[in-house]
Amino acid sequence: MNRCRVLLLNAALGPLDYRVPPGMTVEPGSIVVAPLGPRQLIGAVWEPERLDAEEVGDNRLRPLLHAYDLPPLAPPLRRLIEWTADYYLSPIAAVLRMALPSTGALEGARSITEYRVTGHVPDRLTPQRAQALERIGERMGLVRELAIIGGVSDGVIRGLVKAGAIEAVEVTIDDPYAKPDPDHDPPALETAQAGAAAELRSAVAAAEFAPYLLDGVTGSGKTEVYFEAIAEAIRGDRQALVLLPEIALTEPFLKRFTARFGCEPVAWHSGLRQSQRRRAWRAIASGEARVVVGARSALFLPYPKLGLIVVDEAHEASFKQEEGVQYHARDVAVMRAKLEAIPVVLASATPAIESRHMAEIGTYRELKLPDRYGGARLPEMAAIDMLQDPPPRGGWLAGQLVQALQDNLEAAEQSLLFLNRRGYAPLTLCRHCGYRFQCPNCTAWMVEHRFTRRLACHHCGHVMPAPHACPECKEEDSLVACGPGVERIADEVAALFPEARTAIVTSDTIWSPAKAAEFVARMEAGEIDIVIGTQLVTKGYHFPNLTLVGVVDADLGLAGGDLRAAERTFQQIRQVSGRAGRGDKHGRVLVQTHDPSAPVMQALIGGDADGFYAAETDARRAAAMPPFGRLAAIIVSSEDQAEAAETARMIGRAAPSHENMIVLGPAPAPLAMLRGRHRLRLLVHASRAVPVQEIIRDWLGGVRWKNSVRVAVDVDPYSFL
Ligand code: ADP
Ligand code: ZN
Repeated sequence: MNRCRVLLLNAALGPLDYRVPPGMTVEPGSIVVAPLGPRQLIGAVWEPERLDAEEVGDNRLRPLLHAYDLPPLAPPLRRLIEWTADYYLSPIAAVLRMALPSTGALEGARSITEYRVTGHVPDRLTPQRAQALERIGERMGLVRELAIIGGVSDGVIRGLVKAGAIEAVEVTIDDPYAKPDPDHDPPALETAQAGAAAELRSAVAAAEFAPYLLDGVTGSGKTEVYFEAIAEAIRGDRQALVLLPEIALTEPFLKRFTARFGCEPVAWHSGLRQSQRRRAWRAIASGEARVVVGARSALFLPYPKLGLIVVDEAHEASFKQEEGVQYHARDVAVMRAKLEAIPVVLASATPAIESRHMAEIGTYRELKLPDRYGGARLPEMAAIDMLQDPPPRGGWLAGQLVQALQDNLEAAEQSLLFLNRRGYAPLTLCRHCGYRFQCPNCTAWMVEHRFTRRLACHHCGHVMPAPHACPECKEEDSLVACGPGVERIADEVAALFPEARTAIVTSDTIWSPAKAAEFVARMEAGEIDIVIGTQLVTKGYHFPNLTLVGVVDADLGLAGGDLRAAERTFQQIRQVSGRAGRGDKHGRVLVQTHDPSAPVMQALIGGDADGFYAAETDARRAAAMPPFGRLAAIIVSSEDQAEAAETARMIGRAAPSHENMIVLGPAPAPLAMLRGRHRLRLLVHASRAVPVQEIIRDWLGGVRWKNSVRVAVDVDPYSFL
């Protein structure tokens, strides 16, 4: 009797046993289709000794329906899936889904039907049709994908197909990718770069677990250095994976990679069309994709011969996934490297305290690049005391900053104003009755977006048209915008410098790699004088003619005071400063703050990163906060407030007592309502030696709650909202 255990892609189900029918061969890791009631589900065969399942007699087993002709998921990936589920207290099937995100890719189909604009203008050109055709432009995709791009329903696209304005095309999806050439155009490295590169090359050749912290100032050439490690992986016929914190950074990366290796790497991110996803997944799973660059989701793909992982901008909080499986891609990357027995490189100009600590205790090997490439100097930093030099009424830019912008315009050099807030104003209120526009689904103000003439909630996406009158007192034209967003700063710049050419860079304007490419091209061509942007512009970009950075509100990130507020502020301002003066021209950074004496401002201005980190690290150690202690959050939510509160109290009452562990709360979350759900939080704080996951698993396993209540565990939380 041939039986096997299968982990199905359904988070609500445990592993199930099946019979392997005659003529089918499977092994652990094989990807199969299994029957479940009347349904057919995809799953992976697993070692029975590693996953418990209910015992079912041989005679009651149903046979597997199909085994895909694909390489089985390799043991290191299977162990990674188990570890991730265990560590982050997530259903193992939810983790498996991250390895098999494109079920379409499992089929061996060689082509797929996509659609594109023909150029024929339909007789009946409704505004919707016109909008769809314009937005789609040259792009291709499934009907659904084109509908999303066009901002219309599927029906509109189908109507356009009927009218002959859009046509079907067969797209082959198994075209091979070009192979990057490790010797295409290698740079001549500087001494420090060469030393670091040599060490990484030998680590790749040794093919052993080796975690590296590549700590180099902005513009020091970290990318060039880890490119050498990638070259070594390609030479050894191994795959390399580069994780980036945002897809907006993919485009500049692709260009640089192409210049170095002669062709593009394989990209993996949420912006891919289904056909691209299928092609990429199959190439990754077969080993044909040599170098993959992607967002955190690329981490769980089934690379059969991974030889190197690079996490670029490794300090970025966006590597932490906040929904579903709440994993931290940086930490899981290190675990994958360990299981695969390969090196992993965490690259950053502002490493996280956690990573620095690992380097200090010798767990990570540290590679330092202390200077900018080519003799470029780090920019000069100065604070503007907003109490001493306040902006004029109704403005947000102090006189010194305005003067510096003026000087830069005259010198035909580019400037960047950084404010980490999208939209026009973070709060709108009625001057007459004091009414404030709040999101109906969240504990959050509605943010005015003047370009789109709407108010939007940045938490749930709820939008409403910007009203003329106050909904409360009905007074007309009584609404005032409070506080600045990037759009408002852009208005101020336009009023001050009507002749300046400006660009706003936020996720509202740069929502695809193509948009990012367009922005980069305009910057490089000198078509932009002043960029006004959110954190999206703080990293990755290299514009030699950008010589002035103005930080509009350096205090912004310090409000709210979570564990990492000062660290994050330091990193963000350091990163954005790193955009200034990267070429031969010297850069200058002006930081607007109300508290220039705050330690974080002093450290930024004085350039004393080490002192700042030492003080922060001491504070963490004293409070037994990560990395010296452990945190886990339990978030209880429901559409019904009483039900959420009752469940949270019940969980709180059931809290086990352990030495060196305390449970705080439940308390209403700072975001007490999110997407229509009321939220309460408990926080577990323990010393490092406490097996927190095991304790929480037992604890929550003994409590029952209604299906309408959601209980999510966030291990090593980064958000405290
Ligand atoms: P970082 O990632 O550390 O901020 P980059 O890798 O972006 O720095 O390097 C900054 C700039 O210097 C880039 O334009 C890069 O191409 C260039 N550069 C760095 N090292 C070299 C080198 N050895 N030879 C030529 N150009 C280099
Ligand atoms: Zn909302």
